[in-house]
Amino acid sequence: MIDKEKFDEWYHEIVEKAELCDKRYPIKGMNVWKPYGWKLMRNIDTIIREEMEKTNHKEVYFPLLIPESYFKKEAEHIKGFSEEVYWVTHAGKNELEEKLLLRPTSETALYSIFSLWIRSHTDLPLKTFQIVNTFRYETKMTKAFIRVREIHFFEAHTCHTDFEDAERQIKEDLEIAERFFKKLCLPFISSIRPDWDKFAGAYYSIGLDVLMPSLKTLQVGSVHQYKQNFSKPFEIKYEGVDGKHYYCHQTTYGMSERVLGAIIGIHGDERGIKLPSSIAPIKIVIVPIIFKGVEEKVMEECRNVKKEIESIGLSCHLDERDKTPGNKFYDWEMKGVPIRVEIGPKDIEAHVITITTRDGIKKKIRRDEIEKLKEELNEYDRRIYEKAEKFLKENIHELREIEKREGIVELPWCGKEECGKKIEEEMDMKSLGVGIPSRKCKEKCVVCGEKADKWLRLSKNY
Ligand code: ZN
Repeated sequence: MIDKEKFDEWYHEIVEKAELCDKRYPIKGMNVWKPYGWKLMRNIDTIIREEMEKTNHKEVYFPLLIPESYFKKEAEHIKGFSEEVYWVTHAGKNELEEKLLLRPTSETALYSIFSLWIRSHTDLPLKTFQIVNTFRYETKMTKAFIRVREIHFFEAHTCHTDFEDAERQIKEDLEIAERFFKKLCLPFISSIRPDWDKFAGAYYSIGLDVLMPSLKTLQVGSVHQYKQNFSKPFEIKYEGVDGKHYYCHQTTYGMSERVLGAIIGIHGDERGIKLPSSIAPIKIVIVPIIFKGVEEKVMEECRNVKKEIESIGLSCHLDERDKTPGNKFYDWEMKGVPIRVEIGPKDIEAHVITITTRDGIKKKIRRDEIEKLKEELNEYDRRIYEKAEKFLKENIHELREIEKREGIVELPWCGKEECGKKIEEEMDMKSLGVGIPSRKCKEKCVVCGEKADKWLRLSKNY
């Protein structure tokens, strides 16, 4: 893991060195995805799509532009986003009769149409998702994959007959998050955000956060219970079994390319990024170790091994470039390929291949036991997950009084907003909220001294 002090500088450089994006595009906060980075993002999307399909969500794709009148239907929502919206006012030379906005998120676009789709209780639950670009005019300093103005966004939107069914959806969302982040080797914490920091228009919001090497948290996902806050202004109603009409209850689950930012940041080291095998475009790279006179023999063996690796379902690349092995090692470590295989004359003679995992474990595998590479990948994933989990756990501190600490802290809190905000101020941190699952607290509020039955989680964040 990268040192706390060096992290921001390292991150700034690594995203281009590993050929993930090009930051030279002339609009601030809008970077170009390079092929390797885009492939990674698409592999992350594939895992999301698999999870969505497993849980019976249907993929939709809504227009990028939203009419102003739709956007204005939910008062809190417009208040929350009005400063960040990009407007389209002209088409050619003509000023538009109604202004259009680039979606900052898609509630208002989807819900206007959901009100047409949903008629009866038999249409429910309606479970949809889309993976699209959204636009937010960020005023804080932009950072590749972490704070951008054109966002690669995943959003699931669901409608339910009642509050209880919507609550079951939220439980399912948290289970999806568990599986999804485990596949990406990313340990995370979930917290119910305090009321003053919930999503614009939500009844309550849950934030999913990871801890970066800088000891700042990064929100990588969020789940929202809307209750009927949107269904009422958007008239999303259904006819119940009793023939009466009711407003739906709604939820959303959102994630973005920040997930990739988290993978880069949490697993990276001085040599480059380190990819979990679930998303690595190349899981295994073969580097031939060539000596004069045996070139063809070594290359032939490399090609055979490549075929065998592919035949057990693992993506494999044979690096035939005219570069030294050392240069090749450098490139593939930078790009985070999980396992490197070296094959030279001595390996051929001994009927082995030499492997080095991206986290530095070197060993030989018998030539007739290529299948073992699968185990090695699993073990590698387990190690990088456990390392990140250890880091997260070591940096969560339970405090009994206000004191300067780094990482994530938890303090006894009575639940009052004024006390919560006072704790934020004194700690110079932002509230993440109350942890899920919540832990018993029988202390006194660190501000007012009254009975505190909650631990308020705080951190510095991105
Ligand atoms: Zn208090």
